Amino acid sequence: MLSGNAHIMTCDTDWCSPVMLEEAIRIFGDIPVTYFSTGEYKALDELARNEPALVGPHPNLSGKHHKSCEFENQLLDHLNRYPQAEGYRCHGHMDSAWIQMKMVELNYIWESNMCCHMEPGLKPVKMFSGLTRFPVWLEDDVWMSKKNQEGPTEMKDALGIPGMKVFNFHPVHLCENVMVRALFDWIVDNVDKWTTPSEEMKRCEF
Ligand SMILES: [Zn+2]
Repeated sequence: MLSGNAHIMTCDTDWCSPVMLEEAIRIFGDIPVTYFSTGEYKALDELARNEPALVGPHPNLSGKHHKSCEFENQLLDHLNRYPQAEGYRCHGHMDSAWIQMKMVELNYIWESNMCCHMEPGLKPVKMFSGLTRFPVWLEDDVWMSKKNQEGPTEMKDALGIPGMKVFNFHPVHLCENVMVRALFDWIVDNVDKWTTPSEEMKRCEF
């Protein structure tokens, strides 16, 4: 991770199928991406072997108490899978003093656990725990949930304003080309299982 006016691409896997992840990797192409993984993915295991700093955990700690073994197991599961990871982002940006202190104890040094939607002048923040926070500038599911979504012109203008810009995309939204929250909710209700992205989906890729 960098600072200043850097543009940084990240991806939360959010339990997508391996095929969807591979499709997302294809879409990202040559752009360096930091992945936050929700499970076992061959493609990320391979990447972590060569570039350990580019793969971190995406634990789902919603509803879990810091004193419970589920809390501990979620973290240890990821720690064992990516022992050299230095950064993390929790699902839903879940954060607490306990989470931060536990992650420091587990040798993490940075996190990206907050979204400041298109806020100008963002920079890394030193947290009380000692972790450095890299706030997200643009996240697909935040944008798609907005009533008044910014269009290409507003995006272009905002991109020209100084500040660190961390982007966060999810393979499922890239592969299904989800532009509005309602479409994603419909897909969740009507599609049994995430499968191979269809040729049609590939055609309308953005
Ligand atoms: Zn997530």
